[in-house]
Amino acid sequence: MEITDKLDILDQMYDIYDTFSRHINVACVRGCAACCTQNVTMTTLEGYRIVEHLISTGKQDLFHRLRRSAHQKRFQPTISTNELAALCMQHKDPPEENSDLDRAACPFLSNNECLIYPERPFGCRCFFSTQKCETNAYAVMDPFLVTVNTVFLQFIEHIDVGGLFGNMIDVLLLLESEGQPKHYKLNARTNHPTGLPVNRCIQRLLVPPEHHLKIQPILQKINNIKLLHSSSGKQR
Ligand code: SF4
Ligand code: SF4
Repeated sequence: MEITDKLDILDQMYDIYDTFSRHINVACVRGCAACCTQNVTMTTLEGYRIVEHLISTGKQDLFHRLRRSAHQKRFQPTISTNELAALCMQHKDPPEENSDLDRAACPFLSNNECLIYPERPFGCRCFFSTQKCETNAYAVMDPFLVTVNTVFLQFIEHIDVGGLFGNMIDVLLLLESEGQPKHYKLNARTNHPTGLPVNRCIQRLLVPPEHHLKIQPILQKINNIKLLHSSSGKQR
């Protein structure tokens, strides 16, 4: 699939999610940004969109912020969401992830505002809390929201199959390196020795039995996604 088609599907996924999330009760308001840490994860597809945005809008200076944050301890997942789902199917335990993390602010946060807000990855779009995080020092999420978020993460990874998954800083610095955006665009990046987990197809959605019925309308909308601006000129 061409990169424009993947981005087209990603946009539609975001639209579906925005429609869903408009109806949930959350304590999140503009300017509340304790959740904006450097531990955000994303796919290379989402990273490609951000890198293209930074380059096309002349905001390359923001890459310096990423490089300055690159020495700090951050969440660097060793497996992707769909790999985790595959392990669950096999009743295997996932590998232990490093929990010794700095909670330093995201390099894109400035005066409690996101400098890339329209292009932010799904990991940021889906982070809500029903109570102010300052109150508990952690976010409180409804279990159904966790299920919906996981399903979207699985589908977004599926769109970018063969691409990579990782901490936002690592993915963006990889894509910023010489020739990488073009390399990625040409679908030729899976052999790059990055150490980042490789994206996988969905084998099974991580939906607990109690949410099987409730999530159907959302799955239906995802299944109905059509390519609006197909590079091949055809609808999917
Ligand atoms: S998740 Fe927590 S810190 Fe982030 S906007 Fe919501 S309440 Fe604020
Ligand atoms: S990219 Fe933007 S929304 Fe996401 S953590 Fe950073 S500042 Fe917050």
